[in-house]
Amino acid sequence: MIRPGRTALVAYFSMEIGLNPLMPTYAGGLGVLAGDTIRSAADLGVPMVGVTLLHRRGYFYQRLDREGRQSEEPVAWTISDFAEPLEPRVTVEIEGRRVQVRAWRHVVTGMSGHPVPVYLLDTDLQENSPWDRTITDSLYGGDAHYRLCQEMVLGFGGFALLQALGHDHIYRYHLNEGHAALLVLAMIEAAIGAEPRNGEVPPEVIEKVREHCVFTTHTPVPAGHDQFPADLAHRVLGTRRCELAQACQHQGALNMTLLALRGSRFVNGVAMRHGEVSHSLYPGYPIHSITNGVHAVAWAAPAFQSLYDRHLPDWRYDQLSLRYAISIPGTDIWAAHRETKLALVDEVNRETNAGFDRDVLTIGFARRATAYKRGMLVFHDVERLQRLGKQVGPIQFVFAGKAHPQDQEGKEMIRRIHAMRGQLSVAYLANYDMTLARLLCAGVDVWLNTPLPPMEASGTSGMKAAMNGVPSLSVLDGWWVEGHIEGVTGWSIGEKVEACGSPPEEMQACHAAALYDKLEQQVLPLFYKDRDRFIEIMTHTIAINGAFFNTQRMVGQYLRNAYRLVDQAVNGA
Ligand SMILES: *Cc1c(COP(=O)(O)O)cnc(C)c1O
Repeated sequence: MIRPGRTALVAYFSMEIGLNPLMPTYAGGLGVLAGDTIRSAADLGVPMVGVTLLHRRGYFYQRLDREGRQSEEPVAWTISDFAEPLEPRVTVEIEGRRVQVRAWRHVVTGMSGHPVPVYLLDTDLQENSPWDRTITDSLYGGDAHYRLCQEMVLGFGGFALLQALGHDHIYRYHLNEGHAALLVLAMIEAAIGAEPRNGEVPPEVIEKVREHCVFTTHTPVPAGHDQFPADLAHRVLGTRRCELAQACQHQGALNMTLLALRGSRFVNGVAMRHGEVSHSLYPGYPIHSITNGVHAVAWAAPAFQSLYDRHLPDWRYDQLSLRYAISIPGTDIWAAHRETKLALVDEVNRETNAGFDRDVLTIGFARRATAYKRGMLVFHDVERLQRLGKQVGPIQFVFAGKAHPQDQEGKEMIRRIHAMRGQLSVAYLANYDMTLARLLCAGVDVWLNTPLPPMEASGTSGMKAAMNGVPSLSVLDGWWVEGHIEGVTGWSIGEKVEACGSPPEEMQACHAAALYDKLEQQVLPLFYKDRDRFIEIMTHTIAINGAFFNTQRMVGQYLRNAYRLVDQAVNGA
């Protein structure tokens, strides 16, 4: 699509990037999306570099005790197995201290050999104070002060490091979520020099910065947006930087979303509905939608990779050809699914002794354990579930997901799901990560998603399932609004988002009832009594959703709509 050249034209900034299942540099969906973006950019030959933090201690390693109580440990990993340290050092002024930053380089190589280097910023240098050495240790760790220092390193340190490495022809800076918004201030500062008269930035300077910035927002509710109290921001950034473009004066705070919105020419949400919701939150800003995807080759299980290799030989290069999955015989799809399911069932039994049965309908639910994802919704009426199991057909549930160390509600949710084991066939797998996600999303029969609308910006794990022919049973929120065709690509929970009222408790009971109805009338009868129809749905899941909800399509949209790079390449610029 784009001719490989030596000059990087796009710099992709993200607080977390899931580069390799063995590198703990991501926490969840945001980081996995960032990694899939970079993998597809490398495949397409996009002249891109990535910038993130090293996260020496990772997010955390999750242990669950016999009661499902979570404890956290730092992740131990050998950095030099995955990245090489680079020479240049840059300085970032944080709270008046001069903090030294260096980078490690990890290269993602595309299918045809095109490299996308990713720079992992690191402050663990002898020159720094003991506390400053820990700034790049723990992803989403510490308090607001710690995270603001991390965002200083990402925005100011990342910008300076790209210059020091000779990446001085960057044409687009992509801010993946508000964590990267200080990049806007770094660029303004570079444009006007270090000594502005009084914080006033000439409009043409802001205009020039905006021309180069693209911002993707990932959170549909104001409370989810990163912001810091003005006094903290003044202390950490220093008054001069805080005054640039009145950055710290958004209702008495440094609001990273607003800073990024003001500093970017192109802004997008991560699904159609999320773009609309974001636009209503920030009416002054045009907000586009570019729906998320997943990297097809990374998320198709080995059995599906070889199935596609046999039937759709172009699929690795051209994911639109997954559309022709309608020509694959159902028996072959079922055989591949059988293989992925057995791998999962064996793993569940080995890890949890849950005694899962290979022939029983298996429903999967795995994502961050946090309140709005409503992991307990499916257990709203345990008796009805037990009745369904006896009268229509048995069900087994597999769960996984980490709660943020400070999210007590999320931790309680894990305990309560865990406790369901006494009454139903339920397993909770510990330490959900990309490796486990590969096994889980591919190996279940149905992928369940029950977020509280409109909280799910997009969601991507249902897309990973779709790459393996696994249909979703989901509330109509996020990507499912556009991925769902009833009885063709899966099933909705509640016919319309509006159909279930709006107080969360009312919605809870209404969604649960809708979920049981769907299981009783559609999913269970199809699975147990009309297997051919069930396999048809699996086929459409691949053909319709696999062909669209992938990062090859998504990166193409960023190239054309956000970076405006395709015309440039065609014109030879
Ligand atoms: C894909 C993925 C997620 C995101 O799941 P959602 O359904 O989008 O919430 C979270 N964690 C891991 C490890 C993943 O692979």
